[in-house]
Amino acid sequence: MAAKAKILLIEDSAAQSKQIKEMLEKSGYQVLIAENGVTGLKMVASENPDVVILDIVLPDINGHEVCRWIKVRDETKGIPIIMLTVKGKLSEKVSGLHIGADDYLPKPFKESELNARIYASLRTREFQEELKKKNEQLEKLLKKVELMAITDSGTGLFNRRRFEGVLRRDFVRALRYKEPLSLIMIDVDHFKSINDLFGHQVGDEVLAEVAKIIQKQFREADMVARYGGEEFVVVMPKCPVQDATIPAGRLLKEIADHAFNGLKGKKRKVTVSVGIAGLPDPDLDTEEKLIRCADTALYDAKEKGRNRIAISKGKDLTPPFLEP
Ligand code: GH3
Ligand code: MG
Ligand code: MG
Ligand code: MG
Repeated sequence: MAAKAKILLIEDSAAQSKQIKEMLEKSGYQVLIAENGVTGLKMVASENPDVVILDIVLPDINGHEVCRWIKVRDETKGIPIIMLTVKGKLSEKVSGLHIGADDYLPKPFKESELNARIYASLRTREFQEELKKKNEQLEKLLKKVELMAITDSGTGLFNRRRFEGVLRRDFVRALRYKEPLSLIMIDVDHFKSINDLFGHQVGDEVLAEVAKIIQKQFREADMVARYGGEEFVVVMPKCPVQDATIPAGRLLKEIADHAFNGLKGKKRKVTVSVGIAGLPDPDLDTEEKLIRCADTALYDAKEKGRNRIAISKGKDLTPPFLEP
């Protein structure tokens, strides 16, 4: 339990509130008093008490109304309320229950009774707070897990699964709204030899650096992902293929000029080849065809000598490609 539980007593009778306050302070509680309903509600909001003891008969708004207000507000509804009722008035208890009071104490009551009720309320409160904390922790964990599920751990980029989801969405949108869309495929040239010459770990480092450089060339609206191995993809919504060649060209130069950490002191340059395809293209009516088309362009860039960009059109895909 927190240092000293704070109890707000909403009670108009000075004699009664003095008596209850003394009882509670003797038991080690901090006690605040409000003499009417409005002051009580204000103090509930400003003081965030651990328990409210609420008299039913108040000079301004009655206790049931006060209770209802506390229970409809998200910030205060977790605060337990003990209502002071007149002995034997069952109808009062029932209507109070509907409104959400947590407990009842018929006047007059013994000190031990009051203490028992408060103790029980505090336990409930503590339990709720604990539950809330656990829920928050769980939510954070879930978000982390969700992020992990769409992230490539080697590069921090989105992974292939995420790429496929985003491309599907962007492709459908581009078709429907007749907007352009570009897909860029990037593959590191002769990457196998980097592994063979300098080891897999150096290879991993080079890939992480390549990923960073790729990411830097594109806008937030574009999506850079690791497609697999030493291959990367970029989805560029609303971007015609001709415009996509601009960041792609910059990328070729940036990679070729970059001094890779993992290759310090080694006479080895890194280059990439790039394939681009996009909409509008009457022959590309599915995102699978778009991917194949960009892949064909990439193959073409490799064929023509690597470290370059190639563009493909849907009509370049030969029949076995188009009719799966
Ligand atoms: P090309 O210019 O034709 O693309 O030649 P390449 O050597 O890059 O192509 P290839 O597909 O033959 O080899 C790709 C290599 O990339 C093989 C594989 O071991 C390596 N590779 C794939 N993923 C990783 C990775 O995560 N880390 C490391 N270190 N190597 C990887
Ligand atoms: Mg009263
Ligand atoms: Mg490859
Ligand atoms: Mg390669």
